[in-house]
Amino acid sequence: MNVAIVTVGDELLAGRTTDTNATWLAERLTARGCTVDRITTLPDRIDAIARVVNEYHAEYDAVIVTGGLGPTPDDMTMAGVAAAVGRETTHHEAAHEWLTEQGGYAADELAAGTADLPEGARMLPNEVGVAPGAVVDSIYVLPGVPAEMKAMFESVDEEFSGAEIHTETVVTDEPESALVDRLEAVRDEFDVSVGSYPGESVRVTFSGTDRAAVDRAAEWFADRVDTGE
Ligand code: AMP
Ligand code: MG
Repeated sequence: MNVAIVTVGDELLAGRTTDTNATWLAERLTARGCTVDRITTLPDRIDAIARVVNEYHAEYDAVIVTGGLGPTPDDMTMAGVAAAVGRETTHHEAAHEWLTEQGGYAADELAAGTADLPEGARMLPNEVGVAPGAVVDSIYVLPGVPAEMKAMFESVDEEFSGAEIHTETVVTDEPESALVDRLEAVRDEFDVSVGSYPGESVRVTFSGTDRAAVDRAAEWFADRVDTGE
């Protein structure tokens, strides 16, 4: 399953907030066997959200959008997602019921628009906050607040699947340039994905659906590089 992640927020683009939502979702989706093909950050603007979500909706099996939910004037995401699929936002009875019955909000306490979702959407209750999320076709709209986003993703995570991916990591103090021959050899020898990530040390990852092949590749490589052990 190929997935695109879209995070919405002027504060993300201005560097005031670190986009932890994208990283968390990418990690979870990858662990579930999905392939994350795009991570894109957009401003709080209906036209930008509509254009990109429309394109990604056509291209990927699912799109996850986070941020910009709620009834305040800077929250554009539901309107942008509705425009992406050529619909309006409208009062959603199930969202209203959930907020007033389970959420404990009196109807007159709710800011206008809190229960508005794109036409035909499935409502996702917000167990941790107020603003509900939504599923429109294969577009999942989640809150920006990380705790709310995580809880809501966990309520739908079974809808994201693929073959489970296993990963092993080998860390070496050899410089990456010195490892080229062994990186090529391990790629030729085993049917696994190999990633090399230089930092203070070099982290080399082995991943694939065949756990035994991943283990063998990591062991083969660890035997041939300086791991400091
Ligand atoms: P919003 O849903 O846009 O109203 O954002 C609510 C809160 O969640 C704000 O404090 C944001 O800075 C934070 N937030 C929104 N998007 C993200 C994100 N992608 N990663 C981390 N925090 C975020
Ligand atoms: Mg925002």
